[in-house]
Amino acid sequence: MDAASMGSSLTKVLLSEEQILARLEELAGQIWADYAGKDLLLVGVLKGAVLVMADLMRAMPGTVRMDWMAVSSYGSGTKSSGVVRIIKDLDTDITDKHVLVVEDIIDSGLTLSWIMANLSSRKPASLEICALLRKPEVAKVKIDVKYVGFDIPNEFVVGYGLDYAEDYRNLRCIGTLSPSVYS
Ligand code: IMP
Ligand code: MG
Repeated sequence: MDAASMGSSLTKVLLSEEQILARLEELAGQIWADYAGKDLLLVGVLKGAVLVMADLMRAMPGTVRMDWMAVSSYGSGTKSSGVVRIIKDLDTDITDKHVLVVEDIIDSGLTLSWIMANLSSRKPASLEICALLRKPEVAKVKIDVKYVGFDIPNEFVVGYGLDYAEDYRNLRCIGTLSPSVYS
């Protein structure tokens, strides 16, 4: 689905598909170099990170493994509740593995800081974060994001895996959802 199909539900296109893919190519190169000679496991957080994972891992020049976790944080609204629950845990034992958590967006950072605490208790060799998008709010919690695609304004965005009430994940670009859709 592209921006035109959204009509007035999309206020503006923030990042085009081309911009997103170009940035993921850069990040993949950087990550590949940083983890040279190490056994890297990419851990995606369902469902928003599906498209980031797909394009990030395909941009890597050698084989890399992935695993997935599903947690609930937002329900169908647009504000973080801070309440996190594991819906699907990893299939892999991450003890002594180099783990890179792949996320779509960090907003309040509440979800991710909970996930990081949970994963770090399993004693991985290293644990870092790669997030496609970061909102300014995240400055409020102490969370160290090693790889960031884009810093974006504090607006509710959809597309490229990001949803509003499970819709618009298949939008190719990332854009600002018109408040008329959710108010
Ligand atoms: P946090 O706990 O506030 O950092 O929110 C984490 C999760 O909320 C993300 O993984 C997204 O699923 C969702 N989220 C946060 N901001 C947005 C947004 O602007 N659009 C769509 N989903 C969002
Ligand atoms: Mg969501």
